[in-house]
Amino acid sequence: MTNTSENTLFAAISSRIRDPQAPFIRTPDGKVITYGDMLKRSAQYANALISLGLEPGDRVASQVEKSVDALFVYLGCLRAGGVFLPLNTGYTEKEVAYFVGDAEPRVVVCTPEREASVRDIAKGCGIEHVETLDDGAGSLVEKANAASEDFTDIARAPDDLAGILYTSGTTGRSKGAMITHLNLLSNAEALAETWRFTDADVLYHALPIFHTHGLFVATNTILLTGGSMLFHPKFDLDAALAALPNATTMMGVPTFYTRLLGSDKFTKDLVTHMRLFVSGSAPLSATTHREFEERTGHAILERYGMTETNMITSNPYDGARRAGTVGFPLPGVSVRIADPETGELKETGDIGVIEVKGPNVFKGYWRMPEKTASEFRADGFFITGDLGLIDEQGYVRIVGRDKDLIITGGFNVYPAEVEGCIDEITGVAECAVIGVPHPDFGEGVTAVVVKTPAGNDLSAKDIQSRLTGELAKFKVPKEVYFVDTLPRNKMGKIQKKELRERYSDTFKSK
Ligand code: AMP
Repeated sequence: MTNTSENTLFAAISSRIRDPQAPFIRTPDGKVITYGDMLKRSAQYANALISLGLEPGDRVASQVEKSVDALFVYLGCLRAGGVFLPLNTGYTEKEVAYFVGDAEPRVVVCTPEREASVRDIAKGCGIEHVETLDDGAGSLVEKANAASEDFTDIARAPDDLAGILYTSGTTGRSKGAMITHLNLLSNAEALAETWRFTDADVLYHALPIFHTHGLFVATNTILLTGGSMLFHPKFDLDAALAALPNATTMMGVPTFYTRLLGSDKFTKDLVTHMRLFVSGSAPLSATTHREFEERTGHAILERYGMTETNMITSNPYDGARRAGTVGFPLPGVSVRIADPETGELKETGDIGVIEVKGPNVFKGYWRMPEKTASEFRADGFFITGDLGLIDEQGYVRIVGRDKDLIITGGFNVYPAEVEGCIDEITGVAECAVIGVPHPDFGEGVTAVVVKTPAGNDLSAKDIQSRLTGELAKFKVPKEVYFVDTLPRNKMGKIQKKELRERYSDTFKSK
């Protein structure tokens, strides 16, 4: 670990560079950015940010499309002692206004298309610097181009902030999770060790970089081990098929894997040479896990984490990667299961809320001390809000979000269990199970199902009767809807809140 007179995270990154000529990034158009280039370019961005008056602890908000320069803004910000605040490119003007007003960044980086509206927002909050990330005159890119390639990193202690990531805010106001240097360094080290990353690795990277998965999990792990990334602007099936022969590893959300499996061109030959496929950010269905292994011989390694905690658990590198589980706690991370209300600890195999403690766990929500206090237990464990259990072998299994739990006629129904059974039915591509208001039962279990082409004739009755033998009666969906697609956010998470709203009248007249 570094001492407090260094920049905790970047000192670790730079001290491990063995060969400045080694590639760090390759882009689909054939550009190669070496580790030496990374040092120079991030220094230029650090200098450019300092020239805008950035002081240690100041925030740099960035809402731009994924690009190599966008990544260097992150690294430049780290080196300059700033706090990086990436914003989902899908956020609306109103949402951006909230984040900017709440975080009060020194600098806001945006696209030229958004510049005018962001300037208005910034002006309203007394923020002077709005910078675009394009080639135009006066842009941040131009400022970086003109800046020195040397930079002495600003000291940042392990407990200082490296980033603020706003949670997706499915309930209430979106909260800024304050992530420290130590959170990021310890987690990247744990992942590098658990997943055996080395400088020989080439990671296929098609994740967005406004989210913990693509920004921290993928990028920091590569940076700390000296590997390289095939850095794609987004997941595109043909581009992925072309890139995978040159990769050794891939990190993706479940939809990347289902989309690969949907193509006949995705064959065993294409990926036999690869050593690791990692999935996370949303549940990977057992069907996808099985089909992937049948097709390629590789068992996808599923891991679990969240913005506030970085990564928490992972299936093992050696040993069984069990479908439907998220594996064991990472080195240095403690996980336990507790009663959501009382906090009393649960026995092995019993369902409760997942709680976590370790150097990976964030410092709290930005300017929300009460909210922060209410989400930690007195002994320092963070209450994730995910419901799950730890089985006899120590594998953690997630059964749903606390707020997605369905209570029907006084009985608890865990959506993941019902979804798993529906997914097994031939003709079902995927599904989501939700609870909607019901006059007698409080909530009625409702399934929303996407069929495969072969499942065209499948009816609601077929699904209900298939489940009747498998699940207790109260768990069998009282209503089944068929849809073409499920609403998902950019990280592949099914938007259950949207489904609950859409089908809220289902049992009204019943
Ligand atoms: P985010 O903060 O956007 O990364 O979302 C974190 C949430 O995603 C967690 O609290 C879980 O509910 C969910 N999640 C992440 N990884 C998994 C996984 N492997 N299986 C199921 N849910 C997951």
